[in-house]
Amino acid sequence: MERLIEGYRRFRGGHWPEYRDLYKELSKGQKPPTLVIACSDSRVDPAVIFDAQPGEMFVVRNVANLVPPAEKGEGLHGTSAALEFAVRVLKVGMVLVLGHGDCGGVGAALKGMPLDDFEYLDDWIGLIAPALERLGDIDRFAPESKDMLEREAIKLSLDRLMTFPFVANAVGEGRLSLQGARFRVFDGRLEWLDKATGEFNRVA
Ligand SMILES: [Zn+2]
Repeated sequence: MERLIEGYRRFRGGHWPEYRDLYKELSKGQKPPTLVIACSDSRVDPAVIFDAQPGEMFVVRNVANLVPPAEKGEGLHGTSAALEFAVRVLKVGMVLVLGHGDCGGVGAALKGMPLDDFEYLDDWIGLIAPALERLGDIDRFAPESKDMLEREAIKLSLDRLMTFPFVANAVGEGRLSLQGARFRVFDGRLEWLDKATGEFNRVA
């Protein structure tokens, strides 16, 4: 708790005075141009990576930056609700699925780690399974396999975004663009998905 209070005091002493006017303007309402779907991982903060100002990005973070398929039924759908709010109410122009290297969730899916003891993680991580199937017969313990699955899971989430009718409509009308990127924790590099080629290219 001490760390948090100290951090807040630094915020009040530095960030707040610098952005006071912006916050005042934003208190009338937000109009972020982008929704970022990122991992909950403590090392992958979209606002830090993109040097974003307050009000610039609407962010939903979950384990392994996954988009579930559009479905109703049992349970509550936090990521889907955030997506719906961003697209239908805030009318963002872009949804970015931001994956990352060294993702624990993707690693668990790759190695088929038993998650049966968990009440929620097992089903959630199971969302990655179709991405693993798409990769075919790979060596699950080779380091490059994890990179491949992290990238493939981003593509799968982009496909699943299109299962939401309000997303598909907005994309079809040219109001919304869907993008994928991957941040490498160990060297701070960003790869951006070229949707025409399916390749992730390092951002210069
Ligand atoms: Zn992660």
